Amino acid sequence: MDCLFCNIIKGEIPSDKVYEDDLVYVFNDIDKQAPVHFLIVPKKHIESTDDLVEEDKELVGHIFLVAKNLAKELGLEKGYRIVNNCKEDGGQTVNHLHFHVLGKRPLTWPPG
Ligand code: C5P
Repeated sequence: MDCLFCNIIKGEIPSDKVYEDDLVYVFNDIDKQAPVHFLIVPKKHIESTDDLVEEDKELVGHIFLVAKNLAKELGLEKGYRIVNNCKEDGGQTVNHLHFHVLGKRPLTWPPG
């Protein structure tokens, strides 16, 4: 299976790495939609939120704690947004689960 984000995690495609641990790889989005915009990607290949299973509970919790910790490190004390696009109608373009974290500007609501 050829997955763009699996290849980024393996270092076969370059990325602007922000953080890495046993469970996740984090890098700046190539097409930033805010002054801070990074992606938190689990190292386990999961296609989308719709494909999560019971055993992924801890992984998803870990992802949110990584988001919180990096937001603090990157000075997002005024707030930030965590986005997960799920499947076609959700606007997902890369079929490997990932969470966008955006900040350092006021974000409007609702999204498009
Ligand atoms: O949620 P969605 O699947 O649309 O997000 C995919 C994201 O991956 C996009 O924001 C895109 O800019 C980003 N991307 C990237 N590096 C790549 C390919 C895509 O940061 N090489």
